[in-house]
Amino acid sequence: MNNISRSKSSIWVFADYRNYFQNRVTLQLLAKANDLASELDADVCAIVFGYETDEYVAEYIAHGAHKVIVIEHPNLKPYSVEKYTALMEKIAREYEPEIILIGATSFGKELAPRVAKRLNTGLTADCIGLEITADGNLLQIAPSFGGNLIAEIITPDHRPQIATVRPGTFQEIPHNDGLRAEVVHLKIPGKMPADRLRLVAYERQPDCEQRLEEAKIVVCGGRGMGSKLKFKKLFELAKLLTGEVGATRPIVYAGWAVDDTLIGQAGKHIKPRILFSFGISGAIQHTAALTDADFIIAVNKNPNATMMKMADVAVVADANQVCSALIKALKERIQSKSDYSD
Ligand SMILES: Cc1cc2nc3c(=O)[nH]c(=O)nc-3n(C[C@H](O)[C@H](O)[C@H](O)COP(=O)(O)OP(=O)(O)OC[C@H]3O[C@@H](n4cnc5c(N)ncnc54)[C@H](O)[C@@H]3O)c2cc1C
Repeated sequence: MNNISRSKSSIWVFADYRNYFQNRVTLQLLAKANDLASELDADVCAIVFGYETDEYVAEYIAHGAHKVIVIEHPNLKPYSVEKYTALMEKIAREYEPEIILIGATSFGKELAPRVAKRLNTGLTADCIGLEITADGNLLQIAPSFGGNLIAEIITPDHRPQIATVRPGTFQEIPHNDGLRAEVVHLKIPGKMPADRLRLVAYERQPDCEQRLEEAKIVVCGGRGMGSKLKFKKLFELAKLLTGEVGATRPIVYAGWAVDDTLIGQAGKHIKPRILFSFGISGAIQHTAALTDADFIIAVNKNPNATMMKMADVAVVADANQVCSALIKALKERIQSKSDYSD
């Protein structure tokens, strides 16, 4: 392997650049890593695996990476959890980072525990906060026991300290073309494991136009919507409002909406300007992810539901009827505007 200066300790951020423009979690982690690095006197290093990754490398530098380690090969182009785990293990053993941060994307959630196991170290999943303790450990703050407790976890005896963080938890540093960084290209160290899985194709999930975590308007539905067919109306409403659809766990489990729409402890944390909540009771595992919503409008038959108590506007009514009425009103409004402009 090439030589990399190891005078300083290092905080690594795994670069998840699939769907780059919608998913900003790597940039958010680079920003947080910069905060942590200033307390540890460490550098921030983005770890990039793939092929023809120059534009992403440039982006990571412009968003605060002090250094970028790149391993490129055509075989690394499709994200492969087996290959990436093997690479991460090998370079982490060689260069001994203090901390590895990985986005809690579907891929990151598969990668992180494998890397932690191989390196015989701890992992805290789905962190909502990261700090440095007085004695220099990474304090990993994460919901636990079904979201009823917030745990503060350290890994004092093992290195690296590994944490995954949900998209949307931290703010990225604004893009700055003037930033410079050392870029180190490494060769694939040793033999890669053969893939036991073959990627046939992948396509973007059509349900999400924008990232749910970044959406200014979220239309969220729960079991009170009544059926898959009725739930579908929420997509129509979200489109008219230029928002995104979110869902509770029973909805995702029932297959009324895809996994990516799940909001809550096991899903996404959102911060919309306006959140519509249709037929949702307000279990803590769901509401834990709504704390940054500015304004909540809840519709529920039960005025005493927790969600209704949390809401700025609580409408006691049938969720499906209110959704249909809103769609009708918005369509009429759009129609009358276009009549006027004709
Ligand atoms: C470890 C763990 C993790 C979890 N993680 C998550 C998570 O990430 N996200 C999540 O959402 N859940 C999560 N859950 C599940 C969570 O505890 C709740 O079960 C779930 O959020 C409830 O979803 P709901 O509000 O859609 O359904 P319900 O709790 O069944 O509520 C339905 C609501 O609809 C109302 N209603 C019924 N009919 C109508 C109607 N016609 N019009 C209007 N209102 C109506 C009812 O009054 C009720 O308030 C988790 C649970 C565990 C144990």
